[in-house]
Amino acid sequence: MLSFERLYKDGHEEVIFFSDPSCNLKAIVAIHNTVLGPALGGTRMWPYASEEEAINDVLRLSKGMTYKAAVSGLNLGGGKAVIIGDPDKDKSEALFRSYGRFLESLNGRYITAEDVNIGVQDIEHVFTETSNVCGVAKIHGGSGNPSPYTAKGVFRGMEAACKQVYGDRSVKGKTVALQGAGSVGRFLAEYLDEAGAKIVFCDINEKNIKLLKEVVPSAELVGVNDIYDVECDIYAPCALGATINDSTIDRIKCKIVAGAANNQLAEDRHGEILRQKGILYAPDYLINAGGLMNVSIEFEGWSDSKSSRMVDTIYDTTLRVFAISEEQNIPVNKATDVLAESRIESIKNIQGKYLGNLGHRFPGRKTRS
Ligand code: NAD
Repeated sequence: MLSFERLYKDGHEEVIFFSDPSCNLKAIVAIHNTVLGPALGGTRMWPYASEEEAINDVLRLSKGMTYKAAVSGLNLGGGKAVIIGDPDKDKSEALFRSYGRFLESLNGRYITAEDVNIGVQDIEHVFTETSNVCGVAKIHGGSGNPSPYTAKGVFRGMEAACKQVYGDRSVKGKTVALQGAGSVGRFLAEYLDEAGAKIVFCDINEKNIKLLKEVVPSAELVGVNDIYDVECDIYAPCALGATINDSTIDRIKCKIVAGAANNQLAEDRHGEILRQKGILYAPDYLINAGGLMNVSIEFEGWSDSKSSRMVDTIYDTTLRVFAISEEQNIPVNKATDVLAESRIESIKNIQGKYLGNLGHRFPGRKTRS
């Protein structure tokens, strides 16, 4: 249940319900923390079984965005939105435009983008009503598909982990067990192949398996359940969350876990178990932040080189997190939280709350005409 006690506990600033029966809009926006800047995070559309489930999801996801932006050095807060509905049946221009008008009323405290089941076309409708949106089409000044940048960031995270474990950042000659050949997995496979790594991969989707084989013909396909048993240097979860759990953790045979999937550890304690096993975990929300970095510069004018430079910083930040983990003798997932929280805490004292005036920061941003 949504209660002030619950919001206080996790530190959420604001939760807003948008309803428009004319187009069946049921949306919830959660703004977790705006100390560093306006809350940025995508909108997810899902046929939630209950409103409770939708609330749980939006609270959890928005908090995650605060940490991701903070550790990535972005001047953004954390927020996320969910639309309750079946993406195959309930999408309409009216629904997304109504949603956009509601977002406009937040005066820039929350900026949305794509997330699960929300595509560029949906975002274009939102953009008709509000400028507080990113991930819009390149033709409208947006940044396009974030997956190549996410993949690049994951690759930089892997390089940092190799530096930490092997003393050399190169992945040349390393075997990578790649779980998921989707948008990110495919770009990651290309980076790895170019850098001389060997790829063993799995997927449940025949089309995506074929596409990966087209870009990296030498990649070896294994069964979906066999990926955990692959003798490898790096296990790269790029499909689902929670794949490091009680039933897989003793099977994983690697020195490094580094992938794009969100929430890879089923529970926090699995981070400590990995540490005890001598497996280095490159924290998911840090190394998969390339997509967020990429959209974050849309307001100031996106360019590939600017985005790439930002994504490259993931290498140094990941090494910094490993150093904190060693110095404080804590698992890497905790060390990442320490870095994120210390940045928010230090800025909170100098800047106070973000005031919602996007105009001075991003002059010239207009709604789509
Ligand atoms: P995607 O949907 O394009 O690809 C996911 C792939 O995983 C699909 O090919 C799917 O068939 C496969 N898959 C699903 N279940 C599987 C299973 N049990 N075993 C093996 N493969 C399975 O998604 P994506 O955009 O490539 O994102 C991959 C992951 O990274 C997701 O968890 C996503 O939340 C996360 N992520 C993506 C981005 C981004 O920019 N796209 C940014 C941050 C985080």
